[in-house]
Amino acid sequence: MNNCIFCKIINKDIPASIIYEDQEFLVFEDIKPIDKVHFLIVPKIHIKNLMGCNDTDQIMLGKMLLLGAKLANQLGLKGYRTMINSGAEGGQEVFHMHFHVYGGSDTLIKI
Ligand code: 5GP
Ligand code: ZN
Repeated sequence: MNNCIFCKIINKDIPASIIYEDQEFLVFEDIKPIDKVHFLIVPKIHIKNLMGCNDTDQIMLGKMLLLGAKLANQLGLKGYRTMINSGAEGGQEVFHMHFHVYGGSDTLIKI
């Protein structure tokens, strides 16, 4: 996707603070963190959002959840929150699916 900011980050055309990479995923810090730790797990294939996924994406989606837990552990988080915004009406701003993982604050606002 030519105009996709996350595809550009995946292709290393624009920089990001990368914390993990494998064949399927790139993980980097959110440019506007909402917690002490806030990273995005981004599948390297361009899928618009969860609503654009289907049965063939089951394994990738499971891996994404488990990778979040693994990286949160490695970064020393004792707990964390996750978020996947889907569609403009779901608060999505970047239309390349991504999984927010964030935590680290002493105080927690319950939502
Ligand atoms: P969404 O609302 O689509 O779920 O979240 C998009 C997220 O991507 C936002 O939290 C925003 O701060 C982050 N973001 C947008 N553009 C960039 C960028 O160029 N670099 C990085 N690292 N994060 C970005
Ligand atoms: Zn993309």
